[in-house]
Amino acid sequence: MPEAPELLEQVIEQPITITGNKPQKVNLLGMDLPHLKAFFTEIGEKPFRAVQILKWIHQFGVDNFDDMSNVSQALRQRLSDIAEIRAPQVVLEQKASDGTTKWLMRLDGGNSIETVFIPEDNRGTLCVSSQVGCALDCSFCSTARQGFNRNLSSAEIIAQLWTANKMLNERIPKTEASPNKNSQNETRRAITNVVLMGMGEPLLNFDNVVQAVHLMVDDNAYGLSKRRVTISTVGVIPALKRLREECDVSLALSLHAPNDAIREKIVPLNKKYPIKELLDACRYYFSGDTKKKQFTIEYVMLAGINDSTRNAHELARLLRKLPCKINLIPFNPFPESDYVSSRMQVIKQFRDILQKAGYVTMIRKTRGEDIDAACGQLAGKVKDKSRRVNSDKS
Ligand code: SF4
Repeated sequence: MPEAPELLEQVIEQPITITGNKPQKVNLLGMDLPHLKAFFTEIGEKPFRAVQILKWIHQFGVDNFDDMSNVSQALRQRLSDIAEIRAPQVVLEQKASDGTTKWLMRLDGGNSIETVFIPEDNRGTLCVSSQVGCALDCSFCSTARQGFNRNLSSAEIIAQLWTANKMLNERIPKTEASPNKNSQNETRRAITNVVLMGMGEPLLNFDNVVQAVHLMVDDNAYGLSKRRVTISTVGVIPALKRLREECDVSLALSLHAPNDAIREKIVPLNKKYPIKELLDACRYYFSGDTKKKQFTIEYVMLAGINDSTRNAHELARLLRKLPCKINLIPFNPFPESDYVSSRMQVIKQFRDILQKAGYVTMIRKTRGEDIDAACGQLAGKVKDKSRRVNSDKS
């Protein structure tokens, strides 16, 4: 594979397909079961068709109605006329030596998003984006530097899982048992977990995120358990309350600080939703049946900002009685970032204090160090280069 910089140039030069004047077809890719049933009812077909089509799209990765062999010829033709199954185009892939793979996908209109696959011994995690850029301006975040562009549609969110599944499936060696075709079970084993931890704040794109998550947990689609689908948020309190009612999957709270004074500096949304109210909302989210979903506190380790032993003790006191585990994340620097990561010795000391206080505490392994691993870094690079190309022309 060529070096990333060469590929980036290719991305810039690729023509963008604009579907402009053609009549718009309905994209079925992002529809969960209720929406798909409503679609079939609206066109005068039986709602049970929704389950059939859902399986074809998400379990078998089909994007052509002609391949749906248990659907009548007449309906296939009708669907081809009015509907489509369309995912964003993968325009760049970076693969790190540890197997971490990052895809850059181009959306209609020319924006780009990132999706990352992180393979581990016993699982494979796909990190999915929910917005183009982000408005929340966390000071340690590469995506924040791009500002906010737009929300992703439910199709653009689930397309990241759909596409990654297909691409990974193509790479699974064909077995003697199935020499011509990899089985669906093999496909689904490659991605065992999904985290909405890519570009954007998922709870600020609530309806589209929830529809995509419904597909992730639907047995007719990807069939992931609630423990294996995680929404990561900096804490949009009203949306958290709604989420509990509509789609109570696992939650990762990007806390990053043990008190409001520090958090306000690095997560501006904290001014609106301070820590105490936020943790109360999390308690509500996890009240009742907690076994089906997990609660993780994310804490990025920034040297001299939030990493003292005093901060660790403060964090331990703050989280008392919350049923959570804690992930300490070594800061992944990006060009022009204002911070440096805490030294590993400091991070271990921080972890030990939390563990002694009774918390399951992990230090996240840094993955994909030889590619643009910080979230938003690759899309940011492409955007920056696009800008430069445009201004050179003017
Ligand atoms: S950390 Fe998350 S919420 Fe904060 S700016 Fe980055 S993408 Fe947005």
